[in-house]
Amino acid sequence: QKFVYDFTEGNRDLKDLLGGKGANLAEMTNLGLPVPPGFTITTEACKVYLDSGEEPAALRDEVSAHLDALEQKMGKKLGQSDDPLLVSVRSGAKFSMPGMMDTVLNIGLSDTSVTGLASQAGDERFAWDSYRRLIQMFGKTVLGVDGEHFEEALDAAKEAKGVTVDTDLDAADLKNLVEKFKQIVKTATGRDFPQDPREQMDLAIKAVFDSWNGDRAKLYRRQERIPHDLGTAVNVCSMVFGNLGPDSGTGVAFTRDPASGHQGVYGDYLQNAQGEDVVAGIRNTVPLADLEQIDKKSYDQLMQIMETLETHYKDLCDIEFTIERGQLWMLQTRVGKRTAGAAFRIATQLVDQGLIDEAEALQRVTGAQLAQLMFPKFDEQAKVEQIGRGIAASPGAAVGKAVFDSYTAVKWSRSGEKVILIRRETNPDDLDGMIASEGILTSRGGKTSHAAVVARGMGKTCVCGAEELDVDTKRRRMTTSSGQVVEEGDVVSIDGSTGKVYLGEVPVVPSPVVEYFEGRMHAGADDADELVAAVHRIMAYADRVRRLRVRANADNAEDASRARRFGAQGIGLCRTEHMFLGERREMVERLILADTEEEREAALAELLPLQKKDFIELFEAMDGLPVTVRLLDPPLHEFLPDITELSVRVALAEARKDPNENDLRLLQAVHKLHEQNPMLGLRGVRLGLVIPGLFAMQVRAIAEAAAERKNAKGDPRAEIMIPLVGTVQELEIVREESEAVIAEVEAATGVELKLALGTMIELPRAAVTAGQIAEAAEFFSFGTNDLTQTVWGFSRDDVEASFFTAYLEKGIFGVSPFETIDKDGVGSLVRHAVEQGRATRPGIKLGVCGEHGGDPESVHFFHEVGLDYVSCSPFRIPVARLEAGRAAA
Ligand code: PEP
Ligand code: MG
Repeated sequence: QKFVYDFTEGNRDLKDLLGGKGANLAEMTNLGLPVPPGFTITTEACKVYLDSGEEPAALRDEVSAHLDALEQKMGKKLGQSDDPLLVSVRSGAKFSMPGMMDTVLNIGLSDTSVTGLASQAGDERFAWDSYRRLIQMFGKTVLGVDGEHFEEALDAAKEAKGVTVDTDLDAADLKNLVEKFKQIVKTATGRDFPQDPREQMDLAIKAVFDSWNGDRAKLYRRQERIPHDLGTAVNVCSMVFGNLGPDSGTGVAFTRDPASGHQGVYGDYLQNAQGEDVVAGIRNTVPLADLEQIDKKSYDQLMQIMETLETHYKDLCDIEFTIERGQLWMLQTRVGKRTAGAAFRIATQLVDQGLIDEAEALQRVTGAQLAQLMFPKFDEQAKVEQIGRGIAASPGAAVGKAVFDSYTAVKWSRSGEKVILIRRETNPDDLDGMIASEGILTSRGGKTSHAAVVARGMGKTCVCGAEELDVDTKRRRMTTSSGQVVEEGDVVSIDGSTGKVYLGEVPVVPSPVVEYFEGRMHAGADDADELVAAVHRIMAYADRVRRLRVRANADNAEDASRARRFGAQGIGLCRTEHMFLGERREMVERLILADTEEEREAALAELLPLQKKDFIELFEAMDGLPVTVRLLDPPLHEFLPDITELSVRVALAEARKDPNENDLRLLQAVHKLHEQNPMLGLRGVRLGLVIPGLFAMQVRAIAEAAAERKNAKGDPRAEIMIPLVGTVQELEIVREESEAVIAEVEAATGVELKLALGTMIELPRAAVTAGQIAEAAEFFSFGTNDLTQTVWGFSRDDVEASFFTAYLEKGIFGVSPFETIDKDGVGSLVRHAVEQGRATRPGIKLGVCGEHGGDPESVHFFHEVGLDYVSCSPFRIPVARLEAGRAAA
């Protein structure tokens, strides 16, 4: 096994082994670009070290051989006293983890070689400054010395001299500072700063390995869902210096604008500086375009290289470079991060330039980016007063009055106020308050905090961990870092896409992408329309290649129409229980309370015409497209009053000696229907089997509505779906009853209906016995919400707000299985049921209507297992279309 690769030996496909930085340095080297020579130690070496606590035996010799070769190439030896070769030792994992791991520059400097560097560079100040940087960085990251000590000594030196910036310290000052720094190291570690250059290098390599398991790095990986076992590569690279005078400098550049995607010169340059100065923001940079004036030759060469890189990588690249005395060096490149809008624009621009094809363009965007573009935003033109910034935990733009407890949030929102719930952090007791609020703001916690997890689940705007805001829930106020006080009732605005917090109301503008999907915006010339045009094209590519059809979960004509505008190809789930709310709840109550056959039939007869009207509207909105109507699913007690409230009411009435007959009957019914575990109780098909006439009424309403639509020359395509089936026997009974009703309606109306009858697969037993169930089902729709609940034994209504935060933090899963399908568990049942269902009934139609139907990663899974369609909420339809296209491309 080879643990070390020269830059000339690697390439960009070796990211697993060489890390992103190392692979791209090798790629640039092989393109003939000016990269300072060096070598990369593999992630495999890191893994051996992390697993065993020791570097692999062969590593030392391999490093020696590569160091020899490097020294030959450079014509000088590491730390050589009269002309030292200096190297940087940098981390570089497969996935970029900005600033999370260690880097040490200027390795090879010592008390002797510092003078060699001074005479070679003809610059004593530069040499001593480089040495003090080495001791500082090495001391901090390799030897674990508290960085504050060095900062304090540096400040003291400046103060003693009466200057404010580092550059005003001369060679003698820096030489003194080096002595101080060495003393700091000695005091803190009990040993001298190592003078042997090879020892410096070996210790630095080990420190980089160790930094993979630093707290910051671990937290970052958990949040970004980067596996913990990848390890980091280490790049050893000969140093070039941007701080050798005005003809030197350092900069960063993008091959096009990462915000808009426009081609042009984008970047920053800092004359006479090293890379860390740019990052630290110590001095002001100039726009990259100014480099043309400063150093035309390097500028022209850089432009040439940027073009080479774009053509080679066929994508936007970001670059770090250094100019040493007029010689340009490339220190890093990678495919650059970009905003969601730029991702769409760049993908279409690259198609137009002939660099990529449409299939590739689809891989350059994601459903998550599209979803981001669909959130409303704050008006960028508006004057704002920013008072803090936290973590962008759940996107959106929310405005409301500040409230500091959930009780007030609920109370105020009931009286029609819009509120923002502000807490130090939230806990399960805040659930009601979170539901009642426009958005949630916390001063503690990260992307996996309770507030963040729950808000994302609810699709609510959330900013968390805004640490400069001091939240005082007792006094119902918060204080900003500048001492400004926000009282309960003051209006605040929070941006869940940027994490910014504003005082006062910031106007919200609708998303142009939603305006486009709604049909309210078309192509044009301004900025938003350029984005819309790009989205339009990408969606067209996706629709052309996708195999999965996309339907909507919708139970009224309004949602159905919107879904259709968003591209829905039918309704995959109409939850009829939603039609029984509001004033109709009482009719259901009468049905439940019915003592006699007549009473029950009267109640059903009351509901029938209302249901029928619902269906007529729905079939009309979805004319020509399939509409899957699911028969009543939830336990009946959900339609009755709350047991506690009702008990209190009855008790009070009795105390007043004024009992209410109806309340008493209700209470009896509530007691009778009360279940410890209603989700596993009398619901779904079980209801249909024990409440005579209920399902028959619904089937009749569907059939009569379809007949009426046909008579009106419409094209209704109803499908009747039975929920919570566990065994084929249940389905057979309902099927027989339904077919009889349909035949009656056909006979009475003289219309042939062709209604399909199918079932949900949402219990493990149904999935396991899907082969039998398919005997009686013309279609399956996977109810992955209930299936996840029953496979894991997780109560879907409780767990996300209770212990999921702990589970996410412990890394048991990276994302809630209610959000992204658990492929190994729930997914394998789906796979099994697909196979068994098709084996029994080759033409069986297969879809999914759980929340996962609109989740990007899950859509790819459903494509892969061969479903015919996914069904999701109307707003997620574009995302599902796009991801279905990406899965197929
Ligand atoms: C499901 O269980 O996945 C489903 C779609 O049904 P509901 O969410 O209504 O239980
Ligand atoms: Mg269900």
